[in-house]
Amino acid sequence: MKKHNFSAGPCVLPQEVFQKASQAILNFNNMDLSIIEISHRDKNFVAVMEKAQTLALELLGLEGKGYKALFLQGGASMQFLMAAYNLLETKAVYADTGTWAAKAVKEAKLFGEVDVIASSKDKNYNYIPKGYSIPEDADYFHCTSNNTIFGTQYKEFPQTSVPVVCDMSSDIFSRELDFSKFSVIYAGAQKNMGPAGTTLVVVKEDVLGKVTRAIPSMLSYKNHIDKESMFNTPPVFAVYTSMLTLEWLQNLGGIAAIEKINNQKAALLYSEIDRNPLFKGFAAVEDRSNMNATFNLVDESHKEVFDKLWKEANINGINGHRSVGGYRASMYNALPLESVEVLVDTMKKFESTI
Ligand code: PMP
Repeated sequence: MKKHNFSAGPCVLPQEVFQKASQAILNFNNMDLSIIEISHRDKNFVAVMEKAQTLALELLGLEGKGYKALFLQGGASMQFLMAAYNLLETKAVYADTGTWAAKAVKEAKLFGEVDVIASSKDKNYNYIPKGYSIPEDADYFHCTSNNTIFGTQYKEFPQTSVPVVCDMSSDIFSRELDFSKFSVIYAGAQKNMGPAGTTLVVVKEDVLGKVTRAIPSMLSYKNHIDKESMFNTPPVFAVYTSMLTLEWLQNLGGIAAIEKINNQKAALLYSEIDRNPLFKGFAAVEDRSNMNATFNLVDESHKEVFDKLWKEANINGINGHRSVGGYRASMYNALPLESVEVLVDTMKKFESTI
């Protein structure tokens, strides 16, 4: 029986995507060839790349608004430096809301002045800082919409006239936002989109061409845009699987439809965390992530009992990250509501056992 997979990423994808992707490994488009043995220049694969790019922009509501979608390699971690390489001329400002945000700051410092204008490090990143202003003279403001490790998520983004660069690795395509407020959005595929190996980068073209430094071809957004995301061999299987997931999402009714289900899943789990006296939530209530719920045991001595129960319930991947401890249940788009029901029942059973 398939496990209830709460893994933080790589993570669960829709079952129909697994089926279609495995079929394409054996025989893609009735070509009697595998998708991983044909040329990326073959018209069958070029169509996949184009479809994936179009779907990404359509789902985000960015079609015809001056944006390009790229499927690059190097993970979201590559974007920590690539964003700065392409956009940082003098000074950039960053919000430090967790481990990944801090890594983005570290890389950007190699390219110019970086000011951390907001941070929640003082409380082990359990909240989203608010009430700061973004200097008008910054080349861009960088933020992380969802903090995968700590379980916090921006509910509102700061108002600013400077370009906003956002790492949406762990909540892209999960909720409706005005995506046109962002100039660069990037996200590793391995949460809401596909297998690890590709990173979606959505770039508003008018922010490019403003830095004076020479940019190596592989790190240049403009170069990848000019070459239609095919400057070098793209990660064909990861792009194909991402296309399938985006199609699945579109058929479901797009982001608006999945957001309703995501809200239901999160409400169910958080209400149990708050009700059950054996657990306490980690993140500040108003900043709780709908993707990653972090929670701890009130009494750590009960850990063995709870761990035994969730393993018996066929649950996978709820151990917390070492910097938070406790538990983290990741409820990405493809996780069924039924899996959250099983986890909540297990938490109730634990209460009646103790
Ligand atoms: N940003 C966030 C918010 C993440 O959750 C992760 C990975 N979990 C990363 C960046 C790094 O992604 P990658 O491993 O693709 O470089």
